Order: sequence, then structure tokens, then C-alpha cells
Amino acid sequence: MYKKDFPFFANSKTVYLDNGATTQKPQSVINATIDYYTKYCSNTHRSGFGDAAIATTEFEKSREVLQKFINANKKEEIVFTSGVTQSINFIASSFGKRFKNIIISSLEHHANIVPWQMQNRTLGNGLLVVNCSDNLDFDFTHFEKLLKENPNSFVSIAHVTNAFGKIHDIKRIVSLAHSYSCPIMIDGAQSLSGFKIDVQDIDCDFFAISGHKTFGPTGVGAIYIKEKFHDMVDPYITGGAAINLVDLEQGTTFLNSPYKFEAGTQNIAGVIAFKESLKYIENIGYKTIQKRKDELMQYLDSELKKLPDIIFYNDLKDCSGTRSFNFKDIMHDDISILLDKMGIAIRVGHHCAQPIMNKLKIKGTIRVSLAFYNDFSDIDKLISSLKRAISMLKD
Ligand code: PMP
Repeated sequence: MYKKDFPFFANSKTVYLDNGATTQKPQSVINATIDYYTKYCSNTHRSGFGDAAIATTEFEKSREVLQKFINANKKEEIVFTSGVTQSINFIASSFGKRFKNIIISSLEHHANIVPWQMQNRTLGNGLLVVNCSDNLDFDFTHFEKLLKENPNSFVSIAHVTNAFGKIHDIKRIVSLAHSYSCPIMIDGAQSLSGFKIDVQDIDCDFFAISGHKTFGPTGVGAIYIKEKFHDMVDPYITGGAAINLVDLEQGTTFLNSPYKFEAGTQNIAGVIAFKESLKYIENIGYKTIQKRKDELMQYLDSELKKLPDIIFYNDLKDCSGTRSFNFKDIMHDDISILLDKMGIAIRVGHHCAQPIMNKLKIKGTIRVSLAFYNDFSDIDKLISSLKRAISMLKD
């Protein structure tokens, strides 16, 4: 039904079920990228000639669209980055360094683990990990214990985890962190494509966004920074465009947010085209997107459950678009090789979340991640391919 909006599906026969890795792009996003490069390619926030002014206006429009999209209070709270990985690295090195301890969950993506471990190496601040149950439920009692024992902490937690699609109750997590005066960042890489995000309602202090997981271009993302932290966050990458005055004797003074955080030439085409993906989502509406994904997930789950010896690690009710599983006595890598030959795109392995795989004592899983543009026939093709693969591997 929606595939017609995404040129990938007209050109590829692949049954695309790897939306957790990246999403397909609607024609409007592709058109905006082409328009920038073919009609007004110029740098932003520098030169004053006509095309450069158009580029700057389009770039700043994206900031306003994203601000409204996530209901940030001001456009100055939106800083463009290359994606969630850069957003987290930025906040880790420019703000997280102030804290004695960092609290994450055991289900985090490596992007929300390794930057903190690097800080631990250089600054010696601690990395504390909230337990989860065997069913992957966030352990609120343990979280509160960590907060109580470590009052000077910064918290960084995924909204939706990538390996299992597990949805965290982030409003409850944010409110608990704040009750111990700990600022908190939410990794929204997997959530913005499926959930209406209202950063004022969530009340998080930082919210990391990935363009390419939200039907937008690769190499673009953002970080929402609540205004009250603007002066406490240091510039991350420094250089041109972010400065007020540079003097060889007196040093440098910086512009205000967001510009002090956007040194150097940005991914201009990416930022400009990103707003088209947000407009696309708005046109379809989150209600429709969620309803469609729920229907697809129910069907996927009921069909998967008919397969022999399937092992799930969490309940369907907690999953957003992603189902992660294994088959007893079958290596997930073997399934991947066979499914690839049958034209089915899924991901197998640890999904950049090795700590949770270690906890579950597995090397990885088979991950099917859906988007609203998938249809029931994609799931039928997946299931028949899985049946063939299982019978080949069991023979
Ligand atoms: N966090 C999570 C939960 C993710 O799923 C991903 C991408 N797989 C990232 C962070 C990294 O995002 P990006 O690709 O935008 O750097």
C-alpha cells in the first residue's frame, strides 16, 4: 500500500525486513537531496548570495520542522549531528565527563556503551548497568538503588532497544532519574520511526535522533538539548562557523546553541532532506503507522510461533516492530546465508548489543524488523523461506 512511495521497492526484488538497521527513503527525501545538489548547492551560514541564502533557509527550516515534530520548546534546542552515534559521543565528551558515574541499561546498543567505556579509560568515571529480568524487563528496583547510591550520575537509556525491539517505559525512567537530580539522555534511534515523541512531555534532558532510521538520509541525525543545559555543554567539534571571536592571544568565544555545536560544513543535503521524511510521517500519521505495525507484528508473531523449536526472548506486547529469535540447534548464521539466497533481507548476529547476548548466553539472534510499508505477503515469503531453510539445515 505504501511501498509505491519508496522507489527502492520498484527497483529491488528484496523482501526488506531489516528496518532496524536502516529504513527505505520516500521519493520526497530523494527529490530534496537531488534538488540541493542540482539547483542551489552552496554552503550555509556563510556567504550571502542567492543560492547560499536558499541553502541556509532550507537548512534552518529543517531545524524548525524537527523542533515542532518532537515538540521541543525552542529551535535552539535542536543540534544537527551525523546520527545517534555522534550525538551520544558528543554528549559523553561534552557533558557526561562532568559526572562521577554514568548509568545505562543492560540492553543498550554499543553506541551507548563504548563512548562511556572510553571515558572510563581516560577520566576514570564509573559505568553502572541496570539489570534486566530474563524476560528483558528493565529492573526499576535496581535502577533506584543505583541512583540512591550514586547521586552524581548521568543516565543514558534507549527508548526502544535495537536487538529485541524492547520498549522501555522512558517517562517512568526519566522521572525516577530526575527525582535523584540526575540528568538523562534518551537514545531514540529506534523509536522516532514508530512513536510520537514529545520531549517536553517525556521531560528528558537530551534526546538522540537518527535520520536514516526515520526514513531520512544516512549521515544525518540530531540531538535535542534542553535549554537549561546549553551553557554546561562544551562544544564538541571545534572550528569554523561555531565561533563568535577567535583571537590568537585572547582565545575563542563561541556562538550560542545550536551554532556553537555545529562547527564545520554540515551534511547540508542530508539535513535539508531529513525534514521531508518527517513531513512524510506526519502526512501518514503515527496512529496509522502504529496500527499497521501492530497488525503486521501480530501476524508475524503468530506465523513464527507455528515454526518448530523457535525460541523468543521477550513478549510480543513489549516489542516495537522487531522480533528477535533463534531455532533450537540451528546457527543463526546458517539461516542468514540461506535467506539471503532466497531474497529475504534480515539481520542475524549480536546486533551491536553483545552485553545482552552474553547475559542470555547466546552468540546472537535472527532479527526481523518491520516498517509500516511492509505487507503481509512479505511475512508469508519470510515464513516459507524460513521453513525451507530449517528443513535444509535439519536434513
Ligand atoms: N542506538 C540504537 C538503539 C541503534 O539501533 C542504533 C543504530 N543501529 C544506534 C544507536 C546508532 O545510530 P546511528 O546509526 O544513527 O549512528
